[in-house]
Amino acid sequence: MAFFVDLILPLPLDKRFTYSLTEEEAAFIRPGMRLAVQFGKNKIYTAIVGKIHNEAPKVYEAKPIHQILDVSPILDVKQLQFWTWIANYYLCTEGEVMRAALPGAFLLESESVVKLNKQASYDENNLDDDEFLVLEALQRQSSMKIREIEDLLDRKKVLPVINKMTEKNLVMLNQEIYEQYSPKQTRYVKLNRQFEAESEMHQLLDELSRAPKQRQVILTYFSLTAGTKKSLTVKKLLKESKATSSILKSLLDKQILQEYFQETDRVKFTGEITNTGISFNKYQKKAFDEIQGIFDEKKVCLLHGVTSSGKTEIYIKLIEKAVNEGKQALYLLPEIALTTQLIKRLQDYFGEKVLVYHSKYSMNERVEIYRHVLQNSEKGKIVIGARSCIFLPFQNLGLVVVDEEHESTFKQFDPAPRYHARDAAVVLAKQFDANIILGSATPSLESYFNAEHHKYELVELNRRFGNVLMPEVEVVDIKTAHRKRKMTGHFSERLIEEIRESLNEEEQVILFQNRRGFSPILECNTCGHSPQCPNCDVSLTYHSHNNQLRCHYCGYHMAMQEKCMACGSPEISTKGFGTEQVETELKALFPEAKIGRMDQDTTRGKYAYEKIIAAFENHETDILVGTQMLTKGLDFRKVNLVGIMNADNLLNFPDFRAHERSFQLMLQVAGRSGRTQKRGKVLIQTYNPFHQIIQQVSTGNYEAMYKEQLEERYQYQYPPYFRLIRLTIKCRDFSKTNEAAAWLAQALENVFERYVLGPEFPPVARIRNEYYKNILLKIPQKQSLGKTKKMVDRILSSFRAIGAYRAVRVIANVDPQ
Ligand code: ADP
Ligand code: ZN
Ligand code: ZN
Repeated sequence: MAFFVDLILPLPLDKRFTYSLTEEEAAFIRPGMRLAVQFGKNKIYTAIVGKIHNEAPKVYEAKPIHQILDVSPILDVKQLQFWTWIANYYLCTEGEVMRAALPGAFLLESESVVKLNKQASYDENNLDDDEFLVLEALQRQSSMKIREIEDLLDRKKVLPVINKMTEKNLVMLNQEIYEQYSPKQTRYVKLNRQFEAESEMHQLLDELSRAPKQRQVILTYFSLTAGTKKSLTVKKLLKESKATSSILKSLLDKQILQEYFQETDRVKFTGEITNTGISFNKYQKKAFDEIQGIFDEKKVCLLHGVTSSGKTEIYIKLIEKAVNEGKQALYLLPEIALTTQLIKRLQDYFGEKVLVYHSKYSMNERVEIYRHVLQNSEKGKIVIGARSCIFLPFQNLGLVVVDEEHESTFKQFDPAPRYHARDAAVVLAKQFDANIILGSATPSLESYFNAEHHKYELVELNRRFGNVLMPEVEVVDIKTAHRKRKMTGHFSERLIEEIRESLNEEEQVILFQNRRGFSPILECNTCGHSPQCPNCDVSLTYHSHNNQLRCHYCGYHMAMQEKCMACGSPEISTKGFGTEQVETELKALFPEAKIGRMDQDTTRGKYAYEKIIAAFENHETDILVGTQMLTKGLDFRKVNLVGIMNADNLLNFPDFRAHERSFQLMLQVAGRSGRTQKRGKVLIQTYNPFHQIIQQVSTGNYEAMYKEQLEERYQYQYPPYFRLIRLTIKCRDFSKTNEAAAWLAQALENVFERYVLGPEFPPVARIRNEYYKNILLKIPQKQSLGKTKKMVDRILSSFRAIGAYRAVRVIANVDPQ
């Protein structure tokens, strides 16, 4: 009988690829293991075993595999099923899911290695310059990678040279695989066993009397190891004996001491458990019991709890319960909410059971966390992290918490798989028969809709913990204020008054402005021109700290212009404003106050974010100015005033979710105010004080917002009533982009008729010199999602078969955010 294996390769292939196995291999290999296989000409890839079977592929001859890389699977069959679901649902390939799911270190690097053929005989006069150089280099080193040969010959394309040399039998080409992951190793020392006996020991010390420094090291060694079985690190020995490494080296050379290495964990928790119990108030208790009931019925729970109602404590108790049952728990958060504050709260309670999976962590740290989860070890029973955590190799998942479930950053935008971690987590939980709770102070319309229709079940917490009142919201009409000249820059009189009062009372202030940078665009007062990015269709934004104009899409930048580039007029002014300008104006208004700023520009470094938060927590800063980064999960005790500088640039965003988003954002920022006994205050500056969303925010009326928005979604055919698939056509050639988009739209209309919108240029229609055009497909609730996607897939396949559109890329985004 012949044996075959279907493999997932980390490439955008539509299907799994089949290779042949020997009988022994087939007996050893299991799904979820890694194999190295050759694919394409000389390329070796790491593949994941899908299925082992006996059917030869029909259209090609199966090649043997190259090498088995694992002794046991690195994934469970459940994860493989999950990958398949993601690929099908989000219209991408399993290979793309694989790339997103596995830490980079698991996708072993394939690098061709060239070796000298020792049997070869050749006449130097028959070699060309390149061949001569390569052979000469290979005399000196046993092997070279393609990359090194490129350096040697100082050009990119060296494969033809190597090909020719292989044909002439001068060199051999083989593939070598490197496991990039190397556990961090600690260097230890121990005494050579022959000196352990007392007599030998004394003799040794006598012999060393002429080398007092070495003798000192040995004496220190004895005192440090006496009465303990603990290993001794080289570092410690050197420090305690005040010796240099050359002294140690002589002892090692003489074999008196011996060194050895051991793996250590990089991901370490150093603190202690400080929180040993939580006692709920009666509202939390009631909510907790309701959640249990919903879990018992195996349903998804949506927890709608106002800011500071104590949702986190409920999550902690739920996690504790899962862990006590020996299960693993996953706590998902949007990246920006992954603060040290929250991590510390969990670690204070669970100690080193908690592991954090963070994009700022190194590849090695990620591998360690992956291994802990795979082994279902005590450490890592609880994983907290952002969206990619759903791909960790859980063995016994018992609970998933999706905190801030309304956040759009749960959706991966680029590259594929363009998955929504919240929705995918619901599927993942089902696969494991695990409980799942989605929580938010401002649930997404979709989730609330699901709860209303009992696809999920709703639990509510309407009070802040400790009976702290919801903050008082005041709307400031800046249109009138401008007219009456009662504005100082972007600050209304009311806002200035309130800030002054807070500062006098030694309270802290948060100011929210939804734009980074100083002033988004520069405009000529004479001709209206504003400087554009040469690569993208956007205006450049002004950054005052380095006096630059920058493109936020591609990073292009130039020096600030003194005159209009079009007409030469020096009358140029800045339009719109950002966090940086708020900060500048604030410094002029309150020269005594200490001001912090939190936005993408000030939080680049690894701990920059933590530093800003810590400074504010310790009241080293009085006022914190920031973008939406400061809306999430921060619990500051002394903030009594939150100012929203301009609500209108949120509301006027051209997107069907703009109003929902504005509501969520404003309510979340407002929630940072008054989290202790004194009632907090929120000031919203706006040109449209009577806008329904502003009204709903000021009364904190989620229900009203939900009903009204839902009505609009129904009328204009948007989610949750209709599902959306957005197809983005992308090409460097403008007319190709148009033609291809028209073709695709027509093909879709032939099937889906009036549910196809576009093609249309997005607001920014050119990025990095590529043109973009969008087509939106609306899918009514009654229409089968599976069939629709199959059809879309088929149309995309026909599209890709058209030679003229080969340079055109189409990106499918299911449930775009
Ligand atoms: P949410 O996550 O709903 O915004 P938090 O969980 O952050 O609310 O709770 C708000 C504050 O109340 C926090 O400082 C938290 O420590 C405190 N808190 C909540 N529940 C309890 C409890 N049962 N016992 C003591 N403190 C609590
Ligand atoms: Zn001009
Ligand atoms: Zn650009």
